[in-house]
Amino acid sequence: MLQWLQPIKEIKGIGPARAALLAKLNIFSAGDLLEHFPRRYEDRRQLKPIQLLADDTWETFTATVTGIEESKPRRGLTITKVLVRDATGAAQLVWFNQSYRKKWFKIGMKLIIAGKVKRRFQTEIHNPEIELADGNDRVNAGCIVPVYPASEKIQQRFLRSLIRQVLDGTTAVSEPLPADIITRFHLLSRKEALENIHFPANMDLLEQARYRLVFEELYLLQCGLAFIKRYKKSGYTGIKHLPDGRLVSRLERQLPFTLTEDQKKVWQEIKLDMEDTVPMQRLIQGDVGSGKTVLAALALAKTIENGYQGAMMVPTEILAEQHYHTLAQFLAPLGVKLTLLTGKLTRRAREETLEQIRDGLVDVVVGTHALIQDDVSFHCLGLVITDEQHRFGVRQRSLLQSKGGMPDVLVMTATPIPRTMALTVYGDLDVSVIRQLPPGRKEIKTYAESNQMRERVYRNLVVRQVESGRQAYVVCPLVEESENIDAQSAVQVYEQLTRTYLRNIPCCLLHGKLKATEKEAVMEAFCRGECKVLVATTVIEVGVNVPNATVMVIEGAERFGLAQLHQLRGRIGRGQHQSYCVLLSDSRNAETKERLKILAQTSDGFLLAEKDLLLRGPGQFFGSRQHGLPDLKIADIVKDTQVLIEARRAALTTANDPQAIFSMQAVLQERFGDYFSFIFRN
Ligand code: ADP
Ligand code: MG
Repeated sequence: MLQWLQPIKEIKGIGPARAALLAKLNIFSAGDLLEHFPRRYEDRRQLKPIQLLADDTWETFTATVTGIEESKPRRGLTITKVLVRDATGAAQLVWFNQSYRKKWFKIGMKLIIAGKVKRRFQTEIHNPEIELADGNDRVNAGCIVPVYPASEKIQQRFLRSLIRQVLDGTTAVSEPLPADIITRFHLLSRKEALENIHFPANMDLLEQARYRLVFEELYLLQCGLAFIKRYKKSGYTGIKHLPDGRLVSRLERQLPFTLTEDQKKVWQEIKLDMEDTVPMQRLIQGDVGSGKTVLAALALAKTIENGYQGAMMVPTEILAEQHYHTLAQFLAPLGVKLTLLTGKLTRRAREETLEQIRDGLVDVVVGTHALIQDDVSFHCLGLVITDEQHRFGVRQRSLLQSKGGMPDVLVMTATPIPRTMALTVYGDLDVSVIRQLPPGRKEIKTYAESNQMRERVYRNLVVRQVESGRQAYVVCPLVEESENIDAQSAVQVYEQLTRTYLRNIPCCLLHGKLKATEKEAVMEAFCRGECKVLVATTVIEVGVNVPNATVMVIEGAERFGLAQLHQLRGRIGRGQHQSYCVLLSDSRNAETKERLKILAQTSDGFLLAEKDLLLRGPGQFFGSRQHGLPDLKIADIVKDTQVLIEARRAALTTANDPQAIFSMQAVLQERFGDYFSFIFRN
């Protein structure tokens, strides 16, 4: 009898060579094999006769080989045809330049054939999937047949019979779901679900099996997230702030604008959190330019007037500097002491700064990852703010938090995340949303153009805007996730533009490979308006705020995702002048064209995010940067929305039981590895 964790090579018929091939498919144990889920199914219960095959449709049928032909109609082209027939008619299986295929076939062989059918003069199937039909086969024919992610050496038939064998031979399949949940949601047992996800007795059972397994995966994930939330909120008493005192009221009086209704509402939510003993764990989602920074300033003022320090962590040095300056504008006039802690401080300066932080001589520290290093300790940290959170994982957030007793946590993100996604990625946080932009903003005019228009875009738009006193960004194509290559491409674009269209205009160049001091000099020149056109890589994506910049040209726009383009575009349209964004691309890809068109038509970040997620799926959505989620085996958090909502509700009930965390520890460990382990450590 097989155990769940039994190594694959101990299974009958699996030697070292096969085991190595299976390892490439991430299959190492009997359990992995049972969780190697089909990517689709073929209904082979009643196969159609050849005569009834429908044109332009994916069909599966059985037939017998009657002939094998090869022709070379011209140089460089070999056509291999296998002729097959059943009682009702004949068909041709066709391959181009794959002459080796013919060796496999023999006259009289009985086949199962699947593929897209073309009915012209003859019935043809190009590049079909072929299997041998064998008389008393119970896994490959006469049933709903699973089609797995496979490889050239590990084929469908082999996987099917191996999985059948393991399903039959596995005694114990442990049940991770509590009995009451199984009853309440009418779920199949895990064993039944595994049987039917691989070899469904009928379509209804297949659906039930998938529901059960998706539910299980999302439920366990949500349990883990709910435990994180509880772990952070309970067992400790957070800081209980007093209702607003002098600092907050002075800041409110001095603001150069009145808060929008959405800002007021979120500020209210923040205050309630902070005045409660349970530590705040709040996410603020607000589109670019919606005015999140002022909320950070208000929360900091509240922390400081209650005698605590605040820290703000951001992903890049440029952003750290910008936030430092913006916050200083709000807070320094009130006597608040701020400091900047980034990776580029000299050792001496760093030590001095660290000492001041430790002794409580500064109230607010703004910084990059430098903030979570071991040697940073606070006098009394009361509030941790992270901006652009999707670039920091749950862990990094927790690390900074652990530097205080039980500080309040505020996470700000400008990437609007669809609700269902937020439930998962930010399942451990309460969520506030700012939808409304501050008044008086002009909508950015966005155009998707081909490179034929490039010269006109530079001469008629960029140059003219600069001549009337405005500034512009040029964003260079993202070549790949490598700062080196991106930097090179930016240098090229810069050189080309400054030699041609922008010859008489002060331009500067910004990319990730510049030294920190160089970057700073460039940014300062642009902020002061000495530099008119900033040619840059995506380093300008987050946070940069120059209200006089009214044009953005994005080169090679097809290389960016919707959400990212929207984020980039958010750098303009920040002042009182009309702004323009041009997306340059020669891509003919239909999906890309669709993406750029959507962007030209809408400026609602939430809508764009939903579309992006549907177009590209969650992995792409967040780019190759970590999205902070463990891998899921079967659930799809975009498509399985309804199950996600149910599973989350169930998980929250479970997490309310203080004993549950003990019984779930092993299950979470087995399912998600170390992802949640930090909650169990103390
Ligand atoms: P983001 O949410 O992208 O961080 P910011 O906080 O940088 O947005 O705000 C964008 C701009 O809008 C800033 O120049 C800020 O001063 C301004 N702003 C913020 N709130 C308001 C408001 N209620 N009324 C007018 N302008 C505002
Ligand atoms: Mg911001």
